[in-house]
Amino acid sequence: MDMDSVDESHEIVIVGGGICGLATALALHRKGLKSIILERSDTLRDTGAAIGIRANGWRALDQLGVASDLRQRAITIHRIGECRCLKRNDLIKALADALPPGTVHFGRQIVSVNIDRENAYPTLQLYGDKSIRAKVLIGCDGSRSTVADFIGLKSTKLFAILAVRGLTNYPNGHAFDHEITRMRRDKTLVGRVPITDKLVYWFVAQQWTPSGEKLTHDPEVIKRLTSSVVTGFPSDVTEMIEGAEMDSLSLTRLRHRAPWDLLLTSFRKGTVTVAGDAMHVMGPFLGQGGSAALEDAVVLARCLAQKVGAEDLSANCSRQMLINKAGEAIDQYVKERRKRLVALSTRTYINGIVLETRSWLVKFVAIMLLVILFSDPIGHTKYDCGRL
Ligand SMILES: Cc1cc2nc3c(=O)[nH]c(=O)nc-3n(C[C@H](O)[C@H](O)[C@H](O)COP(=O)(O)OP(=O)(O)OC[C@H]3O[C@@H](n4cnc5c(N)ncnc54)[C@H](O)[C@@H]3O)c2cc1C
Repeated sequence: MDMDSVDESHEIVIVGGGICGLATALALHRKGLKSIILERSDTLRDTGAAIGIRANGWRALDQLGVASDLRQRAITIHRIGECRCLKRNDLIKALADALPPGTVHFGRQIVSVNIDRENAYPTLQLYGDKSIRAKVLIGCDGSRSTVADFIGLKSTKLFAILAVRGLTNYPNGHAFDHEITRMRRDKTLVGRVPITDKLVYWFVAQQWTPSGEKLTHDPEVIKRLTSSVVTGFPSDVTEMIEGAEMDSLSLTRLRHRAPWDLLLTSFRKGTVTVAGDAMHVMGPFLGQGGSAALEDAVVLARCLAQKVGAEDLSANCSRQMLINKAGEAIDQYVKERRKRLVALSTRTYINGIVLETRSWLVKFVAIMLLVILFSDPIGHTKYDCGRL
């Protein structure tokens, strides 16, 4: 494709307007770098109801300048270190509201990425035959990322675990402690975290079996299925599921990128890279995927701003110089993130084995590995992604 045949040209393009894409655009904006986000949905997506944010995530939100307002929206969970559970809607709205108007372009789905043979810049093909040329491309397009495919990353893998998430509102207040509560019966795990004194986030994880029903988006079906797997749990659990807000319900099969893939992959092709779930989707057993995505945003924007100035992205700058500088910045970002992400994903991977396996021996070995490798239960929350 030659340069003139593209429909639009932009400097930094982010694919995906989830937590990571919004946070990355905001981090770049705060460093004086302009970007646009291409999001396939027609509105901001808040699938998953709520999200637990531990101290490391709050440090990243502080750097993004949105933490103070968000701290008012959720109660503190009694734990060592800062921990709150936010409505996803509150988080993505806070990130989106802090962006310059017009940053997010809704209804724009990327179907493929190519390198322009004339100028070596990535060119995105959109659903509906439009094409966009980017000088720098960041894939924040989730666990089944088109940008990750372009870079050549291996496919993400599926856990044999399904998770239902939802919110339940108690108009007269609930009586639950300000704690993360986990209850287990056979192969079903129920978790509950208060967001405010009236609102509670919960999840139900259960084993996926090939004969099981197909994944559904129908809230009525999700509620019925979930109610059926929590019979035998205390009555406050069954009542919580019965009282769930219908539009908060979602059903997901868990995915992960293998820790050894995170260790060995380059994560860059030219001026293209990935962040968030597109880079490192992991099981939710530590509740860290979203916070790690916020950390990615801070580190990536810092690295880009150190090497690439707004003038380098302008039309006057030599193409080769920009490609070299952006390439160095992305390599620095990947180097900074790799150790952190391998540790997080190894820990969640082993946690997944403990939940998934039917073998007591495998379970025992996995638990021993967790004890030996990760003796500090909150060690992962002490990580500081540094200043933006
Ligand atoms: C059950 C469960 C519980 C979890 N609990 C926690 C928790 O407590 N704490 C925590 O930190 N993390 C948690 N996570 C992980 C967290 O949800 C994810 O890590 C986080 O949402 C990743 O954000 P993202 O922006 O990278 O990806 P996503 O949220 O998947 O966003 C990707 C965006 O890209 C868009 N998109 C995709 N493809 C294209 C395309 N081709 N073109 C244009 N747009 C596209 C999508 O529409 C979407 O808006 C949990 C995950 C699960 C499954």
